[in-house]
Amino acid sequence: MARQFKFGEAAEKNTENGVIDIPHTCILQTYSARELVDKFEATWGRKPSAVALPVSNADGLLFDVDGLSKYSAAGSGFKDGIGDFGGLVKAFATEGLNIYLTLDVTLPFQESPPLQIVDIVGDSSRHLCFGNPTTVEILGAILGTGIDLAFEALQDMTPPTNSKLLGVVLDLVNLWPMGGSDNRLELTCFCPSCQEYFELHEKGKRLIDKFKTFPNPWSLALRATESGISFVDEIGINHGAKEIVGFSRLKGFDAAFGSNNGDSELIRKADDLLKYMSVRHDQVMSSVDSVFSEAMRGLSTDKNPYISEAARMMRRVILVEGTSYSWSGGIFIEKLDQLKPAEFDEIWADKGPQTPILKCVPNYAYMSRRSRYYLDAFFEVIANAADSNAMATTGMGRMVRDQLQELLVQRLQQSLACLTAGKAALGTLGVASDDEKQGRQGYVGIALDKTAGIDLINGVNIARGPTAKK
Ligand SMILES: [Zn+2]
Repeated sequence: MARQFKFGEAAEKNTENGVIDIPHTCILQTYSARELVDKFEATWGRKPSAVALPVSNADGLLFDVDGLSKYSAAGSGFKDGIGDFGGLVKAFATEGLNIYLTLDVTLPFQESPPLQIVDIVGDSSRHLCFGNPTTVEILGAILGTGIDLAFEALQDMTPPTNSKLLGVVLDLVNLWPMGGSDNRLELTCFCPSCQEYFELHEKGKRLIDKFKTFPNPWSLALRATESGISFVDEIGINHGAKEIVGFSRLKGFDAAFGSNNGDSELIRKADDLLKYMSVRHDQVMSSVDSVFSEAMRGLSTDKNPYISEAARMMRRVILVEGTSYSWSGGIFIEKLDQLKPAEFDEIWADKGPQTPILKCVPNYAYMSRRSRYYLDAFFEVIANAADSNAMATTGMGRMVRDQLQELLVQRLQQSLACLTAGKAALGTLGVASDDEKQGRQGYVGIALDKTAGIDLINGVNIARGPTAKK
């Protein structure tokens, strides 16, 4: 007699409602839509019910957008049979999947110096600032155009498809990249529009000046190390200044303040840190609201009943890291756990040991550590390798070809190592919610594997940097 145990039952039930995430269209150069669906079933034990398709790659747009130049450096061409973005949507609708559209809001390929992020010491880098109103308009136009093309493709299918455009997803994992050297932290973003947002926010007045020194309030919770930034990851919405000082002392971060580390001094700094985190959170959510509004403007009253009805059902999703406070996303995840949030409808986040349980807001477990963080970093480094401007302005331009190849493979391995797979991993998530209006609805499995990653690396046309040898 084969008996059944709770863990096995949970794992089996949790195979329902899977979404297959295609973080870059290069994966379609290695596998067909059918093959990806079959691989998903082999990995998770059930076919996915939806697919998440990007509306842009790290190296460029996938379709023309009014006012923006189409630019594509590596790996974005579609294989025969798919042809274009509409073909991509149709390929997965043919497999019976519903569609989500995803957008990495940092648009690393968009050369727009006035919109780029600026760190606290005034250096700019290639990501666009999510707080800049013009960035928000560009994102709205890209996502909105993707929505129109997806509707068009779905309506154009013969025989007619039951597949729907279920929602749109904003990837918010690395809005505010952090760097550091000699123990000094270089956080982003302090461009004029961010400075203005802080000045106008009730908690942000004259706050930024307090960070333009060292040590500053960040030093309580962040430290630059040789391998990146190490941080206090316990800070949640219910923690006050005193607790932050406690966490900081526990990690030894208070050493940055030398002998100037009395309780009252540090508590004042922790207060400023909390204000900073909270203003950043508000700024991100305000931009989220604006991008969705712009992308979906006018759809719910469209004359075409197919579009107006679909638009009313469409879910606005944010993809974030599953930590209490994400430093690179600027978001307190617990603040978002409401029954009827205003700016979005659904959260996708990874489930780590520190992830707060989201009871109210409908959510999906994103099956990769730090969500899309390492995946985005991999695709961005590939895009940079093929771009002569990026090669000229990053350390990559000084590498010889073999070193560069090695860096790309290393980044691929790093992102693959973060992926979780298999029914057992689903069992550890706890049973999914029975109520489609709240709690965890399903999971998102990532389509990248070693074969597709190596194909992409081998296909990169490495650009010549200023000092690169052949
Ligand atoms: Zn900014």
